[in-house]
Amino acid sequence: MTRKKPDWQSLRLRLFPQPCVLCQNGACVTPMPICPDCADRFRALLREPCGVCSRPASECDCLKKQHLHALFWYRSPDSRRIVRSLKYRADRAEARALGELLASLCTGRYDAVTYVPRNRARVRQYGYDQARLLAQAVADRLELPLLDTLVSRSAVEQKLLSASQREKSMRGRYAVLPTAVALYPRLLLVDDVSTTGATLRACASLLRQAGARTVTLASLAKTPQSQK
Ligand SMILES: [Zn+2]
Ligand SMILES: [Zn+2]
Repeated sequence: MTRKKPDWQSLRLRLFPQPCVLCQNGACVTPMPICPDCADRFRALLREPCGVCSRPASECDCLKKQHLHALFWYRSPDSRRIVRSLKYRADRAEARALGELLASLCTGRYDAVTYVPRNRARVRQYGYDQARLLAQAVADRLELPLLDTLVSRSAVEQKLLSASQREKSMRGRYAVLPTAVALYPRLLLVDDVSTTGATLRACASLLRQAGARTVTLASLAKTPQSQK
């Protein structure tokens, strides 16, 4: 690990302080743009209880289909503010800070990190893919390679699929790139938000078909079970 990167980052933040994500006031010089006044609000978000088991999102296992590591619930206005900021502000320091927090939950053994790609038109529009930024931070923290394994089919390509094909599975929205998935049997699959979990599960299933042995799911925020 080199010291150079963090130095550049802190210099950049000192020159261009970011407004607080939660209150929009204050000039934050820390990677996670949350002002000192909102620090408690952020901690409260991380501790918000599940409506079913009362555990925080990071510890809840109510989604029986497959465990999903998540930092917080996608429910409160603050959770939406953070997700929106990651989506539209393109702040790499923020994505990095959130990715590192998410990585701290992912304590299993993995061979590589990958992500659910954003629609290509969106990537062109905004110039970046927030799930990839997040996944890169997770990969760096876990000292694992980041793999581009999936591609989002464009709307036009979607239209080529029949309605029944589309309905049959979310899988039609994604395709596996010819990357060496088989060389990395244990994958950690990252997304920014999971509402029903269907996208993550569909992508995990595609990756398993392509040769992955295990696919662990992780997202910044997830919708609580009771809200579905
Ligand atoms: Zn604030
Ligand atoms: Zn729960």
